[in-house]
Amino acid sequence: SEVKALKIEDAPLPKSRNLNVLSEFENSKKKKTASFVVVGHVDAGKSTMMGRLLLDLGVVDQRTVDKLRQEAEKIGKTSFALAWVLDQRSEERARGVTIDIATNRFETDKTAFTILDAPGHRDFIPNMIAGASQADFAILVIDASTGAFESGLKGQTREHSLLIRSMGVSRIVVAVNKLDTVGWSQERFEEIKHQVHGFLSGTGFQSKNIAFVPLSGLRGDNLVRKTTEPAAGWYTGPTLVEELENSEPSARALSKPLRMTISEVFRTPQSPLSISGRIDAGSLQMGDALLVQPSGEKAYIKSLMMDEEPTDWAVAGQNVVIHLSNIDPMHVRVGDIICDPAKPIQCLDTFTLKALAFDFLMPMQVDVHRGRLHAAGKIEAIDALLDKVTGSVIKKKPKVVKPASVARIRVTLASKVPLEAGQRVVLRSGGETVAAGLLE
Ligand code: GDP
Repeated sequence: SEVKALKIEDAPLPKSRNLNVLSEFENSKKKKTASFVVVGHVDAGKSTMMGRLLLDLGVVDQRTVDKLRQEAEKIGKTSFALAWVLDQRSEERARGVTIDIATNRFETDKTAFTILDAPGHRDFIPNMIAGASQADFAILVIDASTGAFESGLKGQTREHSLLIRSMGVSRIVVAVNKLDTVGWSQERFEEIKHQVHGFLSGTGFQSKNIAFVPLSGLRGDNLVRKTTEPAAGWYTGPTLVEELENSEPSARALSKPLRMTISEVFRTPQSPLSISGRIDAGSLQMGDALLVQPSGEKAYIKSLMMDEEPTDWAVAGQNVVIHLSNIDPMHVRVGDIICDPAKPIQCLDTFTLKALAFDFLMPMQVDVHRGRLHAAGKIEAIDALLDKVTGSVIKKKPKVVKPASVARIRVTLASKVPLEAGQRVVLRSGGETVAAGLLE
């Protein structure tokens, strides 16, 4: 008789050790983990700063930077070398040289950090939405040099801050960058601090959750090591890294039903179907059955990896690679949600959103973004204009919603998408963000 190749769909079911994952987690001596996004106006120095940070922490070595610097010199842009550190890491990743989601990861004595998006990405805003929906906090990079701060405030600084706040990020570390260009002027720092604090509070960040660090990303001052610039002697506060360590991760939804959005789908020599992502809620372990939405197909966890090492289990807040079995790969896509088959997430094609308007809103076509997922949809109706603070109805069925107002709007989608109350979504139109809010 014919010997059939064993397909992934009909492999024997993996065995579970039936661990009590939550008590395993409590007893584990794992380092604190925290994830963040880096936002700010173009050219504020985001890539340079992160490149320098990785260099000073020893995540990348000087040789790599020297090599990049030589290449940068060839095109007459020496300063690009540091920015390329991040690019190179994501390129390696694109080529599949290092197959893990944790390429942009670094550790300090106290905390293991994950950078949730590589700044400078072409499709930056959708990427940022995806990152911010999972971030514990954000670093906002501000260019302190003359004129640049002012134009940044009018530009992306404001949009990015609004976006990350709307995506549920509540702590923000403001890197007041390029202070070397203004002679480490304390006056300049204080002026920027005052203005940025003002608009961040207006955006809904609480004062206790806003921190400012004067620094130079290019030179590495106040990043990992305290500056030795005599002109900067007035600053005695924490470095950026110390400020990151002060950022308490947001509460993890450990005992809620499992939810994880798939960030990447790939194959490895060990497994024909692997996915990666951050667990948004609940926990999982080897052998578990999962439900993939919207396909509604079941899969099993053959094995899993965390921080490049095999593990038996993982919980909310952790980034994992899961090797799946017993499912046809066609049912698994980026942006899908894996969940507990006993408590699955529903697929909806209509929902109500309590939204902050970035632009004028009226019945119109929109792209709906939730994490990495985008779907075509439209604003079907505006149910009510709401009071920003109390959330009570100010006006029923307004014709339009003005920018900076809050409204309850009804959105329909062209197809069913896994969605549930409490999720944050962003509405975009013609490449611009028009609203962001919370699913009711
Ligand atoms: P991004 O678009 O925010 O990622 O910005 P880049 O990291 O590409 O930096 C933009 C420009 O600012 C580059 O020419 C950098 O060399 C320069 N730059 C970045 N950080 C500093 C800094 O701390 N001091 C000075 N003087 N220049 C900087």
